[in-house]
Amino acid sequence: MALREDQILRYSRQILLREVGGRGQEKLLGGGVRLVATGPAGLTAAAYVAAGGTAVEAGAEPLSPGAEGFLVSAGEVGRPAAEVLGRVLPDVNADALPPRGTGRLAELPAEWDGEGPWVALGGDGTRGVVVFRGTGGCAGCFAATTATLGAPPIGALGVGLGALGALILQRLLLGLGPALGGCGWEAPGVMTDLKIRGCGRCG
Ligand SMILES: [Zn+2]
Repeated sequence: MALREDQILRYSRQILLREVGGRGQEKLLGGGVRLVATGPAGLTAAAYVAAGGTAVEAGAEPLSPGAEGFLVSAGEVGRPAAEVLGRVLPDVNADALPPRGTGRLAELPAEWDGEGPWVALGGDGTRGVVVFRGTGGCAGCFAATTATLGAPPIGALGVGLGALGALILQRLLLGLGPALGGCGWEAPGVMTDLKIRGCGRCG
């Protein structure tokens, strides 16, 4: 996919980053995720992912209280995510609309299928966590790790977690970083390690 002139202008700031470049921007535009999220973490992630040029296809789940932010107004809480995002995403970035790609971006608990990349937004009781899997990562270890986690935090911690999740998803689409991993988001800007649990096959 070659970039059009309007896309070069729109994405110029990230194209200038050495890790992205023109080729990387083409990968971001070629990728897409199914979004399974109703709260601030998932919707913040969706906004950043869409702004970067990657497709976001939302599900029918109703938006949760606390979801309001820069994509969703308070009056839209309770409406289906697909309906609201289908209406507001064109204003963020029309490139994000036609569904494509095999990625998944979801708030825990969630089901996972497809090739990936997968990004899970969750919580372990004291902090927000992101667990991620690129197309080469072990799905069993991803499942073993996410099975121990709960829903992501709301409020400012959830918003920051969503921004982190979007960045991690973009790195996976660019082919950067490990194919499986996780991190904790303890307070705004405070990242910690998250131990990945081995599946029966990996030990
Ligand atoms: Zn494994």
